[in-house]
Amino acid sequence: MFDKVLVANRGEIAVRVLTTLREMSIASVAVYSEVDAQALHVLSADEAVVLGDGAPEPAASYLHAERIIEAARVTGAQAIHPGYGFLSENADFAAQVTEAGLTFIGPPADVIAKLGNKTTARQILADAGVPIVPGMRATADDPAVLAEAAQDMGYPVLIKAAAGGGGKGMRVVQSADHLAEAASAASSEALSSFGDGSIYLEKYLDRPRHVEVQILADAHGNAIHLFERECSIQRRHQKIIEETPSCALNTDLRTRMGEAAVAAAKAVGYVNAGTVEFLLDSTGDFYFLEVNTRLQVEHPITEVTVGLDLVRHQLEIAAGSKLTLAQPDVSQRGHAIECRIYAEDPAADFMPCPGKVLYCRPATGPGVRFDAGIYPGAEVPVHYDPILGKLIVWAEDRPAAIARMIRALQDNVVLGVQTATELMIDILASEPFRDGDTNTRFLEDHFADWHPCEDGDAQARLGYVAADLSGVGHAGAADTLPGATKWPSPWQTLAHWTLRS
Ligand code: ADP
Repeated sequence: MFDKVLVANRGEIAVRVLTTLREMSIASVAVYSEVDAQALHVLSADEAVVLGDGAPEPAASYLHAERIIEAARVTGAQAIHPGYGFLSENADFAAQVTEAGLTFIGPPADVIAKLGNKTTARQILADAGVPIVPGMRATADDPAVLAEAAQDMGYPVLIKAAAGGGGKGMRVVQSADHLAEAASAASSEALSSFGDGSIYLEKYLDRPRHVEVQILADAHGNAIHLFERECSIQRRHQKIIEETPSCALNTDLRTRMGEAAVAAAKAVGYVNAGTVEFLLDSTGDFYFLEVNTRLQVEHPITEVTVGLDLVRHQLEIAAGSKLTLAQPDVSQRGHAIECRIYAEDPAADFMPCPGKVLYCRPATGPGVRFDAGIYPGAEVPVHYDPILGKLIVWAEDRPAAIARMIRALQDNVVLGVQTATELMIDILASEPFRDGDTNTRFLEDHFADWHPCEDGDAQARLGYVAADLSGVGHAGAADTLPGATKWPSPWQTLAHWTLRS
C-alpha cells in the first residue's frame, strides 16, 4: 500500500478521500489555490502545497496537471487521487501521472480516453451486446446528415457533445425547424467547454429514469457490481437527489442491469471504481448512457447500503491488490438517499450563489452522514463548483429513509449562502416522490413554479444566529426551532478547526 497520497481536488470530495487515507494510516497531501488557503481540505490534510502562484482560476490550479504532479514529486507522494470533476476524467493527466512514475488512482489512461468520448463508448458497448440509447454511432457536423438522422429516429431528439459532461453541449430539439440552429449552438458550447465541438444525436427518451450501476474492477480481470443508484431527480440534466435501491427495479431487472454493467467493464478492460449509467423506460427497457471513470458524487449511498468504503477499494485496486469480494459476497441492506447541498438559488433556475458560510450545524442522529467541505466562516469561492456537501441517510426501508431525510434536512443548518434545502424537503414530502413515481422530468412536471415559503424556519434560524453572534445567548430564537435544544455557539464550533489547523 502507498505511504503517501496526494489528493488533486478540493471541497467535500477531497475531504472525503482524506478521511479514508487517515483511517488507513496513509499520509496525505492537499493542493490548493490562494482562495482555498483556509479551506477544509487544506486544514484536514497532513501537508498542503499551494499550486503555482496560487491563482484561483481552475486552469492555473486544480486543472494544472504539471503543477499537481510537481507537488506530488516535492512531497514524495506515490499516488494521486483525482476525486471527481477537474482532472479526474482527463486521460492525458492519467498518462502524465503514470509517466512521472506515480500511480493514478483510477482506470488506465487509454480506458479513460475510450470512455470519455460518448460516441466511441457507445460503439464499444454496442459491440459488447449492451443496449445503447437509440441514435447516431458517429459524430457529424453536416446539417444534412444530422437532419436525416433526426428524421430516421423521429423527433424529439437530443443533441449531445461527444466530449460532453455536466450537461454542457446538450440541447433537446422538438422539430426539424430548430435542428440546425440548436446544433450550431451546442457545438460552440462544446468547443468552448471541452476544446472539441463534435456533436451527435440521440433519440430523446420520454421521461426515463436515470439508473446507474456501481462497478469495481481489479487489474487481474475481476469485476463486480455493487447494485444501482437511481438519480432521476435532476435540474438542468444534473442530479440533485439520489437513492438506492431504485423502486423501479425487480430482482430480474437488477440482475440484468448489473450484468450489463460488468460486461461493459470487461469489454473495455476497466480497472478501479466506475459507474455505468443507463436510462430506464417505463416498459423496463434500459439503455446505456455513459461510463463515468471516477468516484461519483453519489457514491455514499452505495457505501452505506453495501457496507463498503469505496475509496479504500480504489486505493487497494490501484496498489495492485486483487478484489477480495466476489459477486455473491455483496448484498444491499436497507435504503439510502442523498441530497446534494449546493450554494444555489432554486427559485432562480438554480443559479450558483457563492459567498461566506456564516454558520453551519450538520444534522446528526442514527443513519445520518454529512460529507461536507465547509465549516462556519468558510468561503465558497466563485471559481469552482458550488457544492457545499451531501446529506446522506440510511434507514430500514424507503418510507423510513424519506422520513429520516426530511428530518435531517430540517436539522442541517447552513446559513450565509442560499441552498435548495426547502425545495428538497418539499420534493421528498410530495406524493409522486413517496409513490416512487420519479423520472428525469420530475422537477419540471411537479415543481416548475416552486418558491420558498416566506416565513418558515429560516427566519427562526437567522434569529438564533443573530442572537448568538451578538452575544445575547441562546434564549428565545433557539427554542423556537424544530427539535432544537441548546446549540453550541459558532465560536465553539470554530475552535474545533483551530485545533486541527
Ligand atoms: P452529461 O455527461 O453531460 O452529464 P449524460 O449523457 O450523462 O450527460 O446525461 C445527463 C442526463 O441528461 C441524464 O441523466 C438524463 O436526464 C438526460 N438525458 C441524456 N440522454 C438522454 C436521452 N437520450 N433521452 C432523455 N434524456 C436524456
